[in-house]
Amino acid sequence: MDTKKLVQQYAAEFVEIRRHIHRHPELSNQEFETTKLIREKLTEYGVEICEIGLKTGVLGLIHGGKPGKTVAIREDIDALPMPELTGLPYASEVEGVCHSCGHDIHTTTLLCCAKVLSEIKDELAGNVALIFQPAEEKGTGAQQFVDCRFYEAVRPDVFVGLHVSPEFPAGSIGLKKGPANASSDMFSVHVTGKGGHGAHPENFIDPIAISAYMITQLQTVVSRENYPVYAAVLTIGSIHGGKAGNVVPDFVDFSGTLRSLNHEYRMKMVEAIKRIVKSCAEGMRGSAEITWESGLPPLVNNDEVIDGLRAAAEKTIGADHIVMVANPSVGSEDFSVFFPEYGPGAQFRLGSGNDDPNSRNGLHNSKNIFDDSCIETGASVLVQYVRDFLSA
Ligand code: ZN
Repeated sequence: MDTKKLVQQYAAEFVEIRRHIHRHPELSNQEFETTKLIREKLTEYGVEICEIGLKTGVLGLIHGGKPGKTVAIREDIDALPMPELTGLPYASEVEGVCHSCGHDIHTTTLLCCAKVLSEIKDELAGNVALIFQPAEEKGTGAQQFVDCRFYEAVRPDVFVGLHVSPEFPAGSIGLKKGPANASSDMFSVHVTGKGGHGAHPENFIDPIAISAYMITQLQTVVSRENYPVYAAVLTIGSIHGGKAGNVVPDFVDFSGTLRSLNHEYRMKMVEAIKRIVKSCAEGMRGSAEITWESGLPPLVNNDEVIDGLRAAAEKTIGADHIVMVANPSVGSEDFSVFFPEYGPGAQFRLGSGNDDPNSRNGLHNSKNIFDDSCIETGASVLVQYVRDFLSA
């Protein structure tokens, strides 16, 4: 049977499952009921569950009828700490928590893939790993899978996945070759001077003047250190120091974030920030300490995997429903922890908008309504990709 028909027969069933998950959202690392539901469904579908020591989230494995490679499909399952204001009959029943990033749709789409792929497993030359990942919103869930050494249990050769996109209509997908999401690092700086009376700068070391020059110098990181074809952002979002206009304080604290679309230039900018912070302070007789919190790497889609997804989409939803996305997002996505480190991969955007203006509010918006007919679209493309990749 062709993939579209295989998926279509279960479309209504999975919309119901999605609405159940939508009613019962769970925050990052607390996805206990969602995990239970996923485990029950995978068991019902005859999918093996790999026990790798996850607290929440599930790793499933479908064994194909013939030997071959392994495709890993990864989706995230957690919700956000914000109220739902959609007024939908199946709106969140948990106060202050809702699926406003569409991870309920992701979870359900992967369950749909599990059911269909398990049914046709005999035709597959290879295996399918199903990664139901917790805690994406905290940016830590992918790392939890790595810490549990998921790659030893399933040995993936390629990673594919999707994220809903209210900017595209349901029934369509968006594909982006190369950089698709930015890295996200945070840092804080403690600038130490020597405080005293504001009338006698000759006796003191002014951390406010040092910080002002430092922050101005830091603006040269993106403009003078980065390769301009890869967008980058450096934002200083907080600064605190001093209490009175006529007193030089002892220290100033400020903090910021660095976003980049290229790993090599991200690391060059990290070094530049550290160098400027140190030398600027020393040049003005002060000192500074920087605390760096390495965040997520940039998500860079593999061109070949995107080509494979495009071919799968042409066969299932048709070329008219494929949008080649021009620009990457400067937001981050922790799927980037999986690839390219553990194999090539790509994530595509799954259109979830329709004629209702509330379906276009955007992600992390309390009023956004996702058109859940997109589950069928996402599952069709993913199932077809697996069938193509694991064809004997
Ligand atoms: Zn998300």
